[in-house]
Amino acid sequence: MTASPVDTATLRRLPKAVLHDHLDGGLRPATLVELAAEVGHTLPTTDPDELAAWYYEAANSGDLVRYIATFEHTLAVMQTREGLLRTAEEYVLDLAEDGVVYAEVRYAPELNVNAGLTLSEVVETVQEGLAAGMAKAAAAGTPVRVGTLLCGMRMFDRVREAADLAVAFRDAGVVGFDIAGAEDGFPPAEHLAAFEHLRSESVPFTIHAGEAHGLPSIHQALQVCGAQRIGHGVRITDDIVDGKLGHLAGWVRDRRIALEMCPTSNLQTGAATSIAEHPITALRDLGFRVTLNTDNRLVSGTTMTREMSLLVEEADWTVEDLRTVTVNAVKSAFIPFDERGALIEDVVLPGYASAL
Ligand SMILES: [Zn+2]
Repeated sequence: MTASPVDTATLRRLPKAVLHDHLDGGLRPATLVELAAEVGHTLPTTDPDELAAWYYEAANSGDLVRYIATFEHTLAVMQTREGLLRTAEEYVLDLAEDGVVYAEVRYAPELNVNAGLTLSEVVETVQEGLAAGMAKAAAAGTPVRVGTLLCGMRMFDRVREAADLAVAFRDAGVVGFDIAGAEDGFPPAEHLAAFEHLRSESVPFTIHAGEAHGLPSIHQALQVCGAQRIGHGVRITDDIVDGKLGHLAGWVRDRRIALEMCPTSNLQTGAATSIAEHPITALRDLGFRVTLNTDNRLVSGTTMTREMSLLVEEADWTVEDLRTVTVNAVKSAFIPFDERGALIEDVVLPGYASAL
């Protein structure tokens, strides 16, 4: 395959699908400044550009725990109905602007209840904001479909409650579940009861695994908990020696389990060393179902267009490669099979055909 030079404007127009993006990691800096002033929360700086730079620096620590600590500021402004409505609506509009046609947004409702909203009110409010964003994006000629993944925080004790919420809201915009938070020291199997409940209710879920911790975490997520996708999963490469797959890596590739890979985020937390060497390229070549994601757009200072651009410039990716990961993402989305097929046939493939 020859590398086709692609400019940023072309990349921005390409249809994109993102499976791994945190609502509380993607606020607009200016919105964060405004909402913080309203609720009396002190930020490191009140200049939006400086704030964006502060996030990028703080997130570049090479440590997942410090990376996660930056979320205290975004979460501080996401405790009220007003804050949730605005951040959810802008979330959708920003993705539409970036050329995203399908997204799964994730967040942990238990982190939004400090001002008295109930867990259910949090979910209802976010859905209302997302719906408003989708209506505006469609009216502007850039329709984007957004499904919600509810998260439980793996280091706290409300994961089962979050799973119950996912079941309760499955017909109201919630399409699946995840656990988030510090991976090291909090293995997925500690929340087995929640995952068994989701499986018995046929609610699909993904699990953050193989980011800060290695193969045992991925093994537990898949073979003990029964995850249908893996968040990050970069450490699956530990089970591949000289291109030969071990049993777990073989399971991931052969069962077509999507890896939700987030190159910039992985560099920042130390899970990968460079874009050029990021495992997404080697795993693509080995036939894994890799997908490309942003993880946290504010915290990592990125967008889907930027992630694509980095792979094109630093890892010799082509537009065909970008089409492949986009189709992969839609294939592994947690929405019904017929809707995934329609998105691929009617939106993704025509969009790439006109760019190629
Ligand atoms: Zn994540």
